Amino acid sequence: MKGSCLCGAIEVSTADRSKIDVCHCRMCRQWGGGPMLAVHCGQDVTFSGTQKASTYQSSDWAERGFCPTCGTHLFYHLLPADEYILPAGLFEELTHFEMNSQIFIDQKPSYYEFGNATPTMTGEQVFAQFSESGD
Ligand SMILES: [Zn+2]
Ligand SMILES: [Zn+2]
Repeated sequence: MKGSCLCGAIEVSTADRSKIDVCHCRMCRQWGGGPMLAVHCGQDVTFSGTQKASTYQSSDWAERGFCPTCGTHLFYHLLPADEYILPAGLFEELTHFEMNSQIFIDQKPSYYEFGNATPTMTGEQVFAQFSESGD
């Protein structure tokens, strides 16, 4: 599947995927103005186009990428695992996407609530799973 930033300078392609995992953490909401609706793409992501993404290292283990011209968010990059997690909104074909899970549910503010019935995880549970997978 293919996508691009708002101005079209950066294009992205990855294998077809259908699951969206939502992150309600404070950093994602501060970055994007709301929860991140994320597509896990592993290392299978190709960026192309006339510009390169700018990056901001938001923690010891991750950086966030965006278009330097239009500001569109392009990826969350987990550095130890070299895994890319992309915003669902980048992609053109969205009809087959389904919400799969919601993480950092304990950091979700009370002013919104998704109606989708998905499994949820707290931040503590996320970090426990992350350390089990042994970065
Ligand atoms: Zn752009
Ligand atoms: Zn987050």
